[in-house]
Amino acid sequence: MNRKEDKKKDALFIRDILARSLDLQLLNLTEVSALTHLDDEVLWDEVYEAARKVKEKVYGNRVVLFAPLYLSNECMNNCLYCGFRKGNRDAKRKSLTVDEAVEEAAFLSRKGYRRLLLVASEHTKRAGIEYFERVTDAIYSQTDIRILHANTAPMNTEDFRRLKAAGVGVYQCFQETYHIPSYRHLHPTGPKADYAWRMSVMDRAIEAGFEDVGMGVLLGLYDWRWEVSALISHSRRLINKYGFGPHTLSVPRLQPAERSELDCSTYRVSDEDLKKIVAIYRLALPFVGVVISTRESSGLRDELLSVGASQISAGSKTSPWGYMKAGDTEQFQIGDSRNLEEVVDRIAELGFMPSLCTACYREGRSGEQFRDLAQSESMKKFCHENAILSLKEYLEDCASPEVKEKLSKFIREEIGKSSNGLMEKIKLVDKGERDVHI
Ligand code: SAM
Ligand code: SF4
Repeated sequence: MNRKEDKKKDALFIRDILARSLDLQLLNLTEVSALTHLDDEVLWDEVYEAARKVKEKVYGNRVVLFAPLYLSNECMNNCLYCGFRKGNRDAKRKSLTVDEAVEEAAFLSRKGYRRLLLVASEHTKRAGIEYFERVTDAIYSQTDIRILHANTAPMNTEDFRRLKAAGVGVYQCFQETYHIPSYRHLHPTGPKADYAWRMSVMDRAIEAGFEDVGMGVLLGLYDWRWEVSALISHSRRLINKYGFGPHTLSVPRLQPAERSELDCSTYRVSDEDLKKIVAIYRLALPFVGVVISTRESSGLRDELLSVGASQISAGSKTSPWGYMKAGDTEQFQIGDSRNLEEVVDRIAELGFMPSLCTACYREGRSGEQFRDLAQSESMKKFCHENAILSLKEYLEDCASPEVKEKLSKFIREEIGKSSNGLMEKIKLVDKGERDVHI
């Protein structure tokens, strides 16, 4: 076969893969590898278009918003890339008291956030399970925050049971790298040095009752093509074992950090590569939420929304006490400093529906049930209507008059595309009822 015929055969294979994704099938590792190694620009445009369509089929046009709440930067580990590492002698250390955590959460809730991701460094004394129980209980009882997710160090099964019972929605933990020699080099000391303990974290979380888990690799630590295949392989193993896999995949990309001892250039992931990674996750595991953080610039975040991303953080601070008082050591530098309102406005300008909805976790739409709804393409109806209701509430309570006027028009147009019952619910929000959802 000559080169031209080879290319034609490759293109047929890629188009077959895209057809399977559009049919909401999971991709196998041969198919994932064909995508990670694809270098034909014309075909990449087709891949991006397919990823956009798959996201639309599963979630409609909604984009979920949240903010991280950093609880502690006191860490027992020495991850070479992180500003919180034990070896960073310049770090200003801080662990929030329960009252301070409530103050930060209340501040964010006044801005309009309803979903927060608790983030903590690893410290058995400062950030043990009792601390998370007290923090979640206080935030739920004293603020309008409706769902807390958590990105913490791996726990044992019993502690995961307690974290779940405390009302945490998604448990998130990144493997950082699946490449064992790199993992060993990057995590020299502390509990995180144990690769097997980290690899088995999702099994313990799921066995403890978490049906929604969030996974990821820290992009830039090793060859991204290899890491992406490894993460998808890990996800497929969970799906085979438990009937469901990760609820979200994040795409954290390595950023400069205070006294980081790592040369970020060796395995640098370019903006174009990041776009490819988002599209590949979307196609390989059609039902996952793909999460973009403020590590990335505003322009790139806009682009990632058009290739399959479905959740983004906004207005984030990456240090404990970061919202109320700037000053303590940040985990890494952020690339997008817009506030929630600016991001909400921009999402709508791009034609997406900004969502502050938290309904699924509280209505039991998780794990296999979530997957079944997504597979039958019913999820997007819930997502669209709940997004509109949550945006309406945000505009009434938190937005500036200009944004309220602009987005009220946008909401009216979107209501036109929805069921009759929605208008009744919108009237309830107008009358002052809150947390109206289906
Ligand atoms: N300490 C816990 C752990 O390491 O699993 C949980 C929270 S840690 C603060 C959250 C994530 O931040 C890490 O899993 C890592 O992927 C990411 N991170 C650390 N340093 C980073 C950097 N310099 N740039 C981008 N992301 C970073
Ligand atoms: Fe600590 Fe997590 Fe940073 Fe590692 S990545 S130093 S465990 S906070």
